Amino acid sequence: MRRALITGAAGFIGSHLAERLIADGLAITGVDNFVSGARENVEALAGPRFAFHERDVSGGLEWVEGPLDYVLHLASPASPPDYLKYPIETLLVGSAGTHAALELAARTGAVFLLASTSEIYGDPERHPQNESYWGNVNSIGPRSCYDEAKRYAEAATMAYRRARGVNTRIVRIFNTYGPRMRVEDGRAVTNFAAQALRGEDITIYGDGSQTRSFCFVSDLVEGLVRLIRSEVEEPVNLGNPAEMTILEMAKIVIELSGSSSKIIHKPLPVDDPRRRRPDISRAREKLGWEPKVEFREGLRRTIDYYLAAGKI
Ligand code: NAD
Ligand code: UDP
Repeated sequence: MRRALITGAAGFIGSHLAERLIADGLAITGVDNFVSGARENVEALAGPRFAFHERDVSGGLEWVEGPLDYVLHLASPASPPDYLKYPIETLLVGSAGTHAALELAARTGAVFLLASTSEIYGDPERHPQNESYWGNVNSIGPRSCYDEAKRYAEAATMAYRRARGVNTRIVRIFNTYGPRMRVEDGRAVTNFAAQALRGEDITIYGDGSQTRSFCFVSDLVEGLVRLIRSEVEEPVNLGNPAEMTILEMAKIVIELSGSSSKIIHKPLPVDDPRRRRPDISRAREKLGWEPKVEFREGLRRTIDYYLAAGKI
């Protein structure tokens, strides 16, 4: 039986990926320290093909025993309020944590996947962003703990590929949403959905003209699975190119949730990217992948989950 280790398995994307790989017949070892994950995500995975260890990846993975086919490194705070609260831990999991996961892949001969991010493009001067763009990141701004940790993690991944022959993959994930995102994680989709369902004011940062492109989690997971089964060694953008302003997104949330919430404006965070849209030509061409779930459909499923799970 093939076996994968997932760091960040208690998180939003990690738990969906674990669920998918278990359904595909793999055995999964999950590692998470719950800094931004949820115990219920792990409990939902319980079964004969899922083992879990509550550990900090940054402390090393020498203790992992047995053969592995994949090391999938997803551990990292990902929501801006989370990484701004834990900047040092975020830098550590991107650096020491990535080294630990790469060492494990080197030791076991496993395929290694780094969950990188569109944030490595910073506040992009090129639009849409393709993988050859080097980015525009402020190395000393508040977001740098995340952006630079991920840029370092990409550099470490390439160094282990070149110097140690590790079979690596790098995915640059663009804004992804869906069931199991923590209601309180502070990201735009979760904030707006919770505010709309509670009848509270919708908090738009700045004038709402900044753009993002939102990908539903099942589409992302399909892309991740295709990537780890491929031989693609260059970084690959995965995201939904349907770009919208944050104001447009807020209005869709209000409409779909049948809310009477009104929109208010708060200050724009420092270094908040003005626009973001993935160029997914590489994923289309090399993985035969493209997203299928339109934003309104994905949002409906997310809202249904929050209501059914009693999260709001
Ligand atoms: P998440 O916060 O829900 O999940 C991250 C998980 O990693 C959490 O369960 C957390 O407890 C765990 N973790 C963090 N540091 C750890 C450590 N030192 N040791 C062990 N576990 C640790 O976030 P997510 O949205 O599921 O993101 C997963 C990955 O995808 C992250 O690496 C993130 O940077 C990347 N990503 C996500 C998005 C997105 O839109 N969701 C976009 C770009 C990149
Ligand atoms: N945002 C907002 N209101 C909120 C949360 C976020 O207007 O309550 C904005 C945020 O400033 C950014 C966009 O929505 O411009 C997406 O934010 P998110 O935290 O979801 O992801 P990011 O792309 O910034 O990592």
